[in-house]
Amino acid sequence: MADQIGYDDTPIIPGTSWHVHDGKRPQPRLVTPGAESGGAPSDAVVLFDGSDLSGWVGRDGEAAQWNVENGYMEVTRSGDIQTKAHFGDCQLHLEWAAPAVVKGDSQGRGNSGVFLWGIYEIQVLDSYDNPTYADGHTASIYSQYPPLVNAARPPGQWQTYDIIWEGPRFDGDQLSRPAFVTVLFNGVLMHHRQELMGDTGHRSLSEYTPHAAGGPLKLQDHGDDVRYRNIWYRPLTGYDEQ
Ligand code: MG
Repeated sequence: MADQIGYDDTPIIPGTSWHVHDGKRPQPRLVTPGAESGGAPSDAVVLFDGSDLSGWVGRDGEAAQWNVENGYMEVTRSGDIQTKAHFGDCQLHLEWAAPAVVKGDSQGRGNSGVFLWGIYEIQVLDSYDNPTYADGHTASIYSQYPPLVNAARPPGQWQTYDIIWEGPRFDGDQLSRPAFVTVLFNGVLMHHRQELMGDTGHRSLSEYTPHAAGGPLKLQDHGDDVRYRNIWYRPLTGYDEQ
């Protein structure tokens, strides 16, 4: 039985070179999941493990100035920070917490942001019992699409983003493929492979400006003491890749 796990007398699956139940089709690559849900799996690239910001830069490329303590980083009003590493299409995980002590309201309450490839913002906001414009709620594709639902936890509690990011492609100065994003917030679906209209500005319509097929992860300093921890990504891969 060990030497016969499939079939070679079945039809070829259209678009592939594999028979139905092909015993020679590669076994899915082994990945050890993180010990806890949200923990980095074995093939993840860890962008922030809670210890230091050596992989990040701040304003003008200088060392990132956010505070790191107790396994998280916190905004210090020193400007946005971004990873030194640039990456392509990916699965991204991160956790964040808005300040436990509520100050301000609407966009002035627990505002930060996750900028994919440094350009496209998935909003971070304390959206717990905090009305604001819909396309600026937490987990919105800022200025384009509100989240499908509001699954925010109370301020001070850790919350999770799991994002599947397919960035745009350009052929010269022409858009050849728009960006698509899937977002889960605290495990709840916010966007399902939603096509982006372009960048995510404030009070402006979105548009695409050509750029490379990759970029950093940027986190926004919007003046609120938002915390982040456990940030990792996995490059997107195709079927049968070893
Ligand atoms: Mg923001």
